Amino acid sequence: MHLSRRSLLRAAGALGLAASAGPKPGAAAFLAQNSNKDPRFFRIATGSLGGVYYPIGSALALAISNPPGSRPCDKGGSCGVPGLLASAQSSHGSVANVQAIASGAVDSGFAQADIAYAAYTGTGPFRGKPALTSLRAIANLYPEHVHVVVRKGASVATVRDLRGRAVSLDEIGSGTFASAQLILDAYGLRESDLKAQHIPSDQAVQRMKDGTLDAFFFFAGYPAPAVTELANAVAIDLVPIVGEAAKRLRARYKFFSADIVPVGTYKGVGRTETLAVGAQWLVSANVPEALVRDITAVMWTPQTQQALEKSHPKGRQIKMETALSGLAVPLHPGAERYYRDVGALQ
Ligand code: GLU
Repeated sequence: MHLSRRSLLRAAGALGLAASAGPKPGAAAFLAQNSNKDPRFFRIATGSLGGVYYPIGSALALAISNPPGSRPCDKGGSCGVPGLLASAQSSHGSVANVQAIASGAVDSGFAQADIAYAAYTGTGPFRGKPALTSLRAIANLYPEHVHVVVRKGASVATVRDLRGRAVSLDEIGSGTFASAQLILDAYGLRESDLKAQHIPSDQAVQRMKDGTLDAFFFFAGYPAPAVTELANAVAIDLVPIVGEAAKRLRARYKFFSADIVPVGTYKGVGRTETLAVGAQWLVSANVPEALVRDITAVMWTPQTQQALEKSHPKGRQIKMETALSGLAVPLHPGAERYYRDVGALQ
């Protein structure tokens, strides 16, 4: 769903949201149910330290927090949800996150849209397991790009050339690992055709530097910190995902779209055609409606938007206009209420 920024701001302004610092109507609702002095903890599962989930999740956690005893928002203090203490946790990534949300180990987390959909429907990597039907969405966040990173001069021009090479597919539990199988498959490869390793991006960077790894997969918003670090240390290339293979993938998996990594995103790397998938903020259906409504309201305040922009360049792409685009699971009723209140949903 695409909405003009103006009409949204007008709607938000009518509710006193754009101009005020905190969540007005909903805050009262959540506080009324949360009258004790103990903070309500709220855990956000993110990703590895080499990724983008972690800095974005950390900025969001800080922005939505406003634990008891905080300095008031209008006096330069917290503008988050009164009573809430949110924290971002590092994690293995999308697959681990949806499982942690469903089991109640965390309240919320980030996941690639393809993984969230597969989890919710019990398909793909979740086939044969109970569908994780308690997953709900707060918002679509920003596009993540398929990075297939190789050392320059490794004679890898296409994914097919990875046959027999030392390649990290990221950790088991990451969205990267699960979705990399789809990419390999589209190029007629299986994991067993590679010397596959299962390490997070920051470790992959170390092994690329010392020459014990030829390539690694990473599904992340650009510029992905791990890839930036590597490009600044050794000459790298990104392998494009194009042609028939890319077409087949997009036809089969509706959450993938064609996209590019622009020239200069990473030192020495040219414009690269690849696929993208939405990163989405998910929450358990068990989190109370009033609380999710307040969190959603705080997410779209100018303060939070500014904090997101500062945390990582992808923070600038987290916009109300695309908050409801391509959601992989149903909106949480609290988020839905907020979007209806501001006129983003009819
Ligand atoms: N999309 C990646 C995954 O689920 C994580 C990317 C990131 O940490 O920014 O494995």
